[in-house]
Amino acid sequence: MRNDHKAILAELKRLYPGAGPELDFTNPYETLVATILSAQCTDRQVNKVTPDLFAAYPDTAAMAAADVDRVYRMVKSCGFKSKAGNIVEACRRIMELYGGQVPATMEDLTSLPGVGRKTANVVLANAFGVPAIAVDTHVFRVGNRLGLAHAKTVEQTEGQLKKVIPKTDWIFAHHWLIYHGRRVCHARGPECGCCTLRPLCRYANREAVPTQKEGSL
Ligand code: SF4
Repeated sequence: MRNDHKAILAELKRLYPGAGPELDFTNPYETLVATILSAQCTDRQVNKVTPDLFAAYPDTAAMAAADVDRVYRMVKSCGFKSKAGNIVEACRRIMELYGGQVPATMEDLTSLPGVGRKTANVVLANAFGVPAIAVDTHVFRVGNRLGLAHAKTVEQTEGQLKKVIPKTDWIFAHHWLIYHGRRVCHARGPECGCCTLRPLCRYANREAVPTQKEGSL
C-alpha cells in the first residue's frame, strides 16, 4: 500500500472511530429490507418507517405473505412503489429457495428482486460480517476525490478500493468514507478548508478526479 493511502486510511480511522451503519436493524431480514428501502432515500427516513413495518411483518415469512399495497402504504415516504413489491417478492423467494433465511452470498443475494451489488455488499458486511465494500454515492465520490480510487464506475471503484484497503478494514472503510461524505466532503461544496485530509487529497490539490458515469450508481 502506498504511504499516502496508508495515511489517508489512518486519518479516516482517527476521525470516525465509531463509524457504523446509520440504518436501524437487528437481523439479516431487517438489514435486507432497510437496505432496499434506503436506495435513493435517506437513512433517517428509512429509520422512521421500519419500526412499524417490522412490528407488522417481523420476519421473512410474514413479509412473504404480505399484501404489497399495504406494505407500500407503510413505506411510501421512502419512494418508489417498486420497493414494496421487491421486498415482498424477495421474501417470497427467500421462503421458497432458502428456507426463510436471508442468503449470505453475493450470487444468491443479487438474484433477489431489488438487490443489486451495492445492496448485497451492505447486507453481506452488516448482517453477516463478510468483508465487503459497498460503493454508494459517498464512497464513490470521497474515494475518488481522495485518490484511493481513480475510476468512473462503481465496479471499478469497488475493485480499486479493495486493492488499496486491507481486507480487515473493508467494512470499516466503507463507513469512514460515508461519514466523511455526509459530514465534510459534500457533493457540492466540500469543506476542504476544515478537512484534515486536505494535504493528502487529490481533489483539493487540484488533480483530475473522474466524474461518475451516468447511471453507474
Ligand atoms: S480535502 Fe476536500 S475534497 Fe478532499 S476529502 Fe477533504 S473535503 Fe473532500
